[in-house]
Amino acid sequence: MIGFNCNGIINRSRIDLEIGEKEILEVSVSGNDIIVKGRDWEKKFPYDQYINELCKVCQVKAPPSTTKTCVGECHEVDSVYDDFSDIEDYESKTTEEKWAYIKDALEPCTRCYACREACPMCYCNLCFVDQNLPVWFGKTTQFPDILVYHLIRAFHMAGRCVACGACSSVCPVGIDLNMITRKLEKIVKVRYDFTAGLDAETLPPMMNFKMEDTEEFMLEED
Ligand code: SF4
Ligand code: SF4
Ligand code: SF4
Repeated sequence: MIGFNCNGIINRSRIDLEIGEKEILEVSVSGNDIIVKGRDWEKKFPYDQYINELCKVCQVKAPPSTTKTCVGECHEVDSVYDDFSDIEDYESKTTEEKWAYIKDALEPCTRCYACREACPMCYCNLCFVDQNLPVWFGKTTQFPDILVYHLIRAFHMAGRCVACGACSSVCPVGIDLNMITRKLEKIVKVRYDFTAGLDAETLPPMMNFKMEDTEEFMLEED
């Protein structure tokens, strides 16, 4: 593993949105300024505000030294300070409001699967969405099929998602999947005291169970 320090990935779509149809010819960073230039114009954006939302709360600015083969700027990270204030607003909603929020957010999904393709943890040889025998769910872009795709993928990401934000960054219709991934991250942290990506030796909770597990969690609601 080769480690590089990272101060956050610039949210290109947000900058594109503000610049409109003008052609960008040059981008540079100086201090806290992102300097974007075109033929006859120049615009500055504050770096700390125009990085991806997950980068704003990321506390692992260099890869953790999870293996002996890490070279470069890898750091020892035992645990991270858990700040989930970015999802407080969502969590304060009622069940009905949460449903409305999720429905509204996911309805534009075209099921292009760019989120899956960009995800470093979606590495299955054959994804459930591509299986024909059995067909797990419909292939349409009607909302029930969209929901099942995101629901099953969320199950698969629990305890695996490293909150890199790639899935949201690549979505061509601008769906913010961070809400789902951050909520998953919090549930796994609270229930299993596990943060994905920090320790290569410990099995993620969903890959590890004991026959004497009480399974009470199945009855609880989040
Ligand atoms: S990238 Fe966006 S549109 Fe494509 S499947 Fe994922 S959420 Fe849906
Ligand atoms: S945020 Fe999580 S689900 Fe999204 S691409 Fe990164 S690891 Fe995958
Ligand atoms: S969505 Fe699930 S089955 Fe598909 S590649 Fe990702 S982890 Fe594998």
